[in-house]
Amino acid sequence: MNTSFDLESLIRPNIRSLVPYRCARDDYDSGILLDANENSIGAVTGPEGNLNRYPDPHQDELRRAIANVRGCRPEQIFCGVGSDEAIDILIRIFCVPGKDSIIITPPTYGMYKVAAKVNDVNVIEWPLTKDFQIDPSSFPHPASSVPLLFLCSPNNPTANNLKREDIIQILTTFPGIVVVDEAYIDFTDQQSFVKDLDQYPNLVVLQTFSKSYGLAGIRLGLAFASEAIISWFLRVKAPYNINVLTSRVALDALSQTSTLQKNIDLILSERTRVMTSLTHIPAVKHIYPSDANFVLVRVENAFHVYKTMADAGVVIRYRGDQLHCDSTIRITIGTPEENDAMLAMLKEVTS
Ligand code: PMP
Repeated sequence: MNTSFDLESLIRPNIRSLVPYRCARDDYDSGILLDANENSIGAVTGPEGNLNRYPDPHQDELRRAIANVRGCRPEQIFCGVGSDEAIDILIRIFCVPGKDSIIITPPTYGMYKVAAKVNDVNVIEWPLTKDFQIDPSSFPHPASSVPLLFLCSPNNPTANNLKREDIIQILTTFPGIVVVDEAYIDFTDQQSFVKDLDQYPNLVVLQTFSKSYGLAGIRLGLAFASEAIISWFLRVKAPYNINVLTSRVALDALSQTSTLQKNIDLILSERTRVMTSLTHIPAVKHIYPSDANFVLVRVENAFHVYKTMADAGVVIRYRGDQLHCDSTIRITIGTPEENDAMLAMLKEVTS
C-alpha cells in the first residue's frame, strides 16, 4: 500500500478549480435535437448513419465494451485520440508548467518527453540499465516536484518487458502517478496491470487500438485508472474527442476476437521466424529479446544500413541515437512477404 499518495494534492491547481464545459449532449441525447447547432438536413457525404450529429461525449457504449474485454469497470476508462492524447492530458492534469517535472526511463517512447516539453514541463531522465530494466536502487530524488513517472512495458524501442516486481516496487513507493504504457501488451505473456487497478490508486495504464487491433488509422487510445483519476481526464478532455466512425469501428473490432488472436499469432510466429533468420546474417551482432511486434537489432554500420534500405524501399527505424542502443535498428514485424523482402535486403546491403 502506497501511503504517501494523495490524488487531490497532485492535481494542478487551475485544473482542480476548473468548471468543465457542459455540452448539449450532456443534457439530452434524443428527441427533436435543435440544441447543438448541428445540421438536421444531413451530411453532404460519408457512410450511413448520424454523421451530422455530434458523438456521445461520454462514449458509454464503447467504454462498456472495452471494460468487458479488458476486465475492468467502464468508469475506469478514458478514450483518447490515440494514447498520445492520454499522455498529453496526463501532463496537463498533473504538471504545473515551468515548475513540475516528469520522470522517464530512456531509452523509451519519445512522446513522453515531447508532450512534457510542449507543456513546458521539465523532464528527468532515469536511465534503464544496459539490459533495459529499471534499477530501483538508482531512483532519482529530484528537488522539484514530480507528479508523474512514465514506464513503458513492453518498452519501445527495446521490445522487452520491464520486470513486474520492479514496476510494483515503484507503484508502492512513488508518491505520484505511475503510468505503465502497455501499447504492446497483446504481444507478450506478461500480465496486464489493468486487472490491478483497484490495488494501486496511483496507477494509470495506457493501451491502444493501434497495435494488436491493427487500427492505427482510427486513432483510439485508452487510459485505465481509478474512477477518481479518470474523472479528471473527463473534465479536461474536449467534449466530443472520439468521433462516430472511430467508435463504430472500435466496437466492431472488440467483437472480432478470433481475428485479433489469429493476427497476433501470425505476428508472433513471424517474429520468431525473423529473429531466427537474422541470426544467419553475419553483420547482425545482437538480437534483443522481444515481447512486442518489433525487434531491436545491433548491426554493423546501422545508420548506413537503415538509409540504404530505406532509399531502396524497405523502411526500418534507426535507433542508434538512443541511450544504450548504439548501432541499432528497430524492425517492425510485417507480413510474411514484407519480412522476406526486409531480410533479403538486409542480407544484400550488409554483404
Ligand atoms: N505508446 C507507445 C509505447 C508507442 O510505441 C506508441 C506508438 N508508437 C504509442 C504509445 C502511441 O500510440 P497511439 O497510436 O495510440 O497514439
